Amino acid sequence: MYPAEFDYHRPGSVADAIKLLQDNPEAKLLAGGHSLLPVMKLRLAQPTALIDISSLSELSGVSEDGDALVIGANTTYHDLMNSSVIKNKLPVLAEASDLVGDVQVRNKGTIGGAAAHADPASDLPAVLLALNAEFKTVGPSGEKTHKATDFFVDMFTTTLEPEEVLTEIRIPDVSSVASATYLKFAHPASGYAIVGIAAVKTGSGEVRAAVTGSVPIAVRLSAVESEISGKDLSDDNIAAAAEKATEGMDFVGDIHASDEYRAHLTKVYTKRALKKIAG
Ligand SMILES: Cc1cc2nc3c(=O)[nH]c(=O)nc-3n(C[C@H](O)[C@H](O)[C@H](O)COP(=O)(O)OP(=O)(O)OC[C@H]3O[C@@H](n4cnc5c(N)ncnc54)[C@H](O)[C@@H]3O)c2cc1C
Repeated sequence: MYPAEFDYHRPGSVADAIKLLQDNPEAKLLAGGHSLLPVMKLRLAQPTALIDISSLSELSGVSEDGDALVIGANTTYHDLMNSSVIKNKLPVLAEASDLVGDVQVRNKGTIGGAAAHADPASDLPAVLLALNAEFKTVGPSGEKTHKATDFFVDMFTTTLEPEEVLTEIRIPDVSSVASATYLKFAHPASGYAIVGIAAVKTGSGEVRAAVTGSVPIAVRLSAVESEISGKDLSDDNIAAAAEKATEGMDFVGDIHASDEYRAHLTKVYTKRALKKIAG
């Protein structure tokens, strides 16, 4: 199916993109297009204009800022998988990117597009939650920084305002990460997560975990974290913590997997992820 007609703009800067968003209230930003174009073709979205930010180099790349990693919103999965900084400092981001979709999706899809789209089955939101990421946005009222736990609000909903651009994702305290993993039970056709679990262990014994795919929006597994943090990652402690993975959570069910099955897989994958970070 063809999308509805739209105007096309290619701004030369983030400031120009914001101005275009202000002038075109029904416009959408276009990054890799691998989430937006499918929903436009299904006519689930009919923006009157597309503002193509994909060539804005100011939004691309990975850099270090002290103990933080700063990732431009336009950085693609392919870039993350091939960045020597990511491979050396936070390989979990490269490993999770390698599990996304297929090679075309990884070549075009961006970390910023994935975060802004907030698809409940998207992989990187869980990893970013477990890494305590921060999201920088720029809009008519200036810059804002959102913690990952605040940024993801609900299915396809974030704290981004319509006239704002997500410019970068910052991972703080990178050296505190002793081990990290992302495991998923993928839909065999699309690769999207039926269940995905990210887990991080810090040098001080804190454990952070997050789930995607089985719930309406990626979220931290706070009951698991409270159960296991500061304890030995023994098999018994891991089993007890994984049992908490469904506590206080609503699970989604659809033609691909029922809510009961997703809840079951959430416990199974939480256990596997905790075992993996235990080493
Ligand atoms: C066949 C297929 C399989 C896939 N499999 C997976 C999978 O296994 N795992 C997975 O996680 N994802 C999967 N995806 C989704 C893919 O990862 C998307 O590319 C990604 O989620 C969105 O990034 P994008 O750059 O393509 O964003 P776009 O499609 O360009 O944009 C998505 C939304 O984000 C907004 N946006 C984009 N950039 C910004 C910004 N900087 N600031 C503010 N708003 C912005 C856009 O306006 C739009 O609303 C799949 C997609 C396809 C087509």
